Amino acid sequence: MCMKIEFPCQCGEENAQFNNLNNILPPSVIEKVYCPECSSEVTVNKDTMLVDNNWIIEYDMEQVKFLLAKMDIPAAQITPEFIFDERYSTWQGVTPTDMVESIREREEIVKLAKVDKKKYVETIKSWSINRMQAFMDAGWRKAQPRTA
Ligand SMILES: [Zn+2]
Repeated sequence: MCMKIEFPCQCGEENAQFNNLNNILPPSVIEKVYCPECSSEVTVNKDTMLVDNNWIIEYDMEQVKFLLAKMDIPAAQITPEFIFDERYSTWQGVTPTDMVESIREREEIVKLAKVDKKKYVETIKSWSINRMQAFMDAGWRKAQPRTA
């Protein structure tokens, strides 16, 4: 089971939704989140921060390394990228606001079902494909093909 984690960014304008794989890491490993608005003045520290499309996640790496050491993951392997890509602590969905937007967009499309059933079926089909393509084009990390 994965607990839903919501974390406000430093300027308070945005809320990021997180998902920590099997709750191995508690929400407290997320130290700070910066949205594109408040990230511009941040000096990125690659040892503790992950940058994704102008958003920044800062992890409590000491806590992460301590907890992942119990799972026999060597400390040298544990980087912000590793935590994010292996889903130990990552966006819920593709982007920090994906889930909220996805629910809202889906509701809009569902309204179509009442007016135009055929159009609805076409729209819902292309919707998720187009959405994923847009995320990939925008450069979101989770939408990029994995090279590893
Ligand atoms: Zn912000």
